[in-house]
Amino acid sequence: MKRRIALLLAGLLFMSGCAPQIPSDDFNGSFAYNTTRLQRGCETEEGIYWDFSGVILYMDKNSQEAIVLCSRPGCNHSGKDCEARIGEFPGSDLCVNEYSGQIYYIYREDYIGAGRQIQIRYELRRMNPDGSEKQQVRRFTLPSGTVVSGMSVLHRGYLYCFGEEMVEIGEPGEPDYHLVDVYRFYRLPLTGGQKPELLWESDESSGRPQTLYACENRVFFRSAEGTATDYKPVIYAYDIDNKTLSKVNTALDTPVNGAAFKGNRFLYMTSGNGIYAVNCLTGEKERKLDLSDDTEHKKQITFLDSIWCMNYAKAARTEGQKAPDADEAWIYNTEGELVNTITLPYSREYTSYGWIGETEEFAVYAEMSVSAGKVRLYTFDTTHPAEAELVLKSEIAIAPPETQPEAE
Ligand SMILES: [Zn+2]
Repeated sequence: MKRRIALLLAGLLFMSGCAPQIPSDDFNGSFAYNTTRLQRGCETEEGIYWDFSGVILYMDKNSQEAIVLCSRPGCNHSGKDCEARIGEFPGSDLCVNEYSGQIYYIYREDYIGAGRQIQIRYELRRMNPDGSEKQQVRRFTLPSGTVVSGMSVLHRGYLYCFGEEMVEIGEPGEPDYHLVDVYRFYRLPLTGGQKPELLWESDESSGRPQTLYACENRVFFRSAEGTATDYKPVIYAYDIDNKTLSKVNTALDTPVNGAAFKGNRFLYMTSGNGIYAVNCLTGEKERKLDLSDDTEHKKQITFLDSIWCMNYAKAARTEGQKAPDADEAWIYNTEGELVNTITLPYSREYTSYGWIGETEEFAVYAEMSVSAGKVRLYTFDTTHPAEAELVLKSEIAIAPPETQPEAE
């Protein structure tokens, strides 16, 4: 009900014709896993939204069938006039978020600026759940050379996002010359013109930040520290009230083969060791499942809200000597008990696959190829996980964009 009221209020604001107003959010943070591209989806009462490289896919929660969010008859979704196309850059991070009943995303625009340099600016945009009334909420830029990268989340009136810049260390031709990716964590208010506020910057020992998540008055993400061969995962917590960023004081095991934030908890798995839950407020760590009997180091886990799905990592499924059970997935309940074993689809024409979200009733599994413009969506009944099967619900084809981005 709360969401419906927010939706009505948002509708009234549109009719009044005012500048965008930002209502307070009721974001519960349960849906966005924010680890792979299609996992950066969002959920409303009626459906689920994903950014498929600039095209919005929508799944109706009743029928569990998915479509391209476009009502133009005969549209192949390749042109700028396709209603579902919200970005022109395959591979840009549009970061679809639900906030107070509307769907928000980041629109990237490249243009030729001063000194004939390519410049990038961003717009935070939003639309009604049916894809109509697309409008700009605010514009922003990041320091030159820095692009929005990875995940974003809208929480309590702010957008939190990561930026990435490739920085040269040393002089070209010198023996110690190399390139380093610098990651930055920003926040910016949804209204007003304030510049993004820098909250964190990586150094040479930091890993790529992952798994951004907001809960109550904190925003969490995972990164790593150390060298490429000897690193340890680190959880960061940004305290909204105190405006401080700190490391959660706990030692995480390496490697992390799947992780997720759920409320104030961080769940992760280490193959051949166990599944752990970390309390991000106290740093306390608890082993939920002992996996030391499982010496197989090629497995990974996806933590959904009511089930956990363990399967072989991609390399183990595709290599020449494929394990006999390489296509199987082991379904656990959140107590860590094995409740079902299912067979996952595998086809070489799809370049990526995995669990991409969950409602209170079902989980969604996808096989996709962004370059070929195709995706298959399956659902799995999580209310009866012991008897459930993976069911193919939709097969979608999207023509690649007609035009490349134009200079201004
Ligand atoms: Zn279309």
